[in-house]
Amino acid sequence: MKEQARHITTDLVHHSYQAPPAFAAIQPAVHKASTVIFDSMHDMRTRRWLDKSGFTYGLHGTPTTYQLEERLCSLEGGKQCLLVPSGLSAISTVALGLLSAGDEVLIPDNAYGPNKDFAEHELARWGIRHACYNPMDVADLHAKITPATKLVWLEAPGSVSMEFPDLIALVQACRARGVTTVLDNTWGAGLAFKPFDLLADGGSVAVDVSAHALTKYPSGGGDVLMGSIITTDNAVHMRIKLTHMRLGIGIGANDAELVLRSLSSMAVRYHAHDVSARVLAAALQRQPAVVQLLHPAFAGAPGHAHWQQLCGAAHQGQGAAAGLFSVVVDAQFDQAAIDRLCDSLQLFKLGYSWGGPMSLVVPYDIDSMRAGGRGALQAGTVVRFCVGLEDTQDLLRDLAQAWEKAFGQAWVQ
Ligand SMILES: *Cc1c(COP(=O)(O)O)cnc(C)c1O
Repeated sequence: MKEQARHITTDLVHHSYQAPPAFAAIQPAVHKASTVIFDSMHDMRTRRWLDKSGFTYGLHGTPTTYQLEERLCSLEGGKQCLLVPSGLSAISTVALGLLSAGDEVLIPDNAYGPNKDFAEHELARWGIRHACYNPMDVADLHAKITPATKLVWLEAPGSVSMEFPDLIALVQACRARGVTTVLDNTWGAGLAFKPFDLLADGGSVAVDVSAHALTKYPSGGGDVLMGSIITTDNAVHMRIKLTHMRLGIGIGANDAELVLRSLSSMAVRYHAHDVSARVLAAALQRQPAVVQLLHPAFAGAPGHAHWQQLCGAAHQGQGAAAGLFSVVVDAQFDQAAIDRLCDSLQLFKLGYSWGGPMSLVVPYDIDSMRAGGRGALQAGTVVRFCVGLEDTQDLLRDLAQAWEKAFGQAWVQ
């Protein structure tokens, strides 16, 4: 087209220069858009976004979000992926996409707390009921499935208390009753086990949906909030996708870029967190004030055999287990002692979330978080440690000094 003499304000919007198309950088480009331009009216009428054959509007996807979706599908072994602005948004979007008035959803009693909260305060207003089941008792799940049950949440291991359920048996129980399963796969992250191939035999036992808080290991920086919803069943995917679209949910291109950048180092980081966490967990297990170690890779921890079955083969039989664990501190130590521990730690900071470079610690009041009691957990306060990427010996020294201040007991080497 011939360039006409135009005002600079117009030229700054409609500039004629186009960079040469091929630019071979390591990281994918960051495409930002609300509006996407069409070539012609014919193009506008025929271009499709639902099947991802084209781009129509920023909210419906960009090359950057498609790239991230594809890599996340590879990570978890899924076929379709939706991106949402947080892990919690993945949870709520799955529920809104798959449930209707009169339906019931079952949630493990040790689930990520806000999942229960969403069911209790939001789903209830739409006439959707929820109940909690004991994830360590497959018979309890069987007993709680009713004709109204349309969705069962799974988490392996449970948030905070880290009991590892018999995920395979739970999924089979749901399959036998025709109930859709959705796994909160934040802990496993696609690395500890494959949610769509639990028996590692090509997919004979698979969850229907995997929801993942990318905020944790995929981000890895403690600086991005994002979630993904991954499926292998196109019908399930499309139901959630249309809800996702109608709710107007999207993510920012810069956040997608950060996760794309971090994904390439994720497996290495996950393993490093895991190795360091196991050294620290073993050290804590030696302390008399610790009455129970809640780390699924340790013999004696609740659900250890299930972890072994699902995650035990990775890393030459060492298994894969993330950088997260909890301990139960002897009930003789009161809240003031627990607070002294948490306040005395220098490298372990006080803060929620996990998966970033910095180690974190949070005490939890488990009894207030559960409907069905403590299960296999001993009496005492649960303290959760999220192990970052600091040097393991530095973290050990930090634990030792804080332990002595908090409990007046010498640290057992
Ligand atoms: C953190 C977390 C979430 C929620 O992720 P956000 O991005 O913080 O909303 C969901 N499930 C589990 C297991 C988590 O640890």
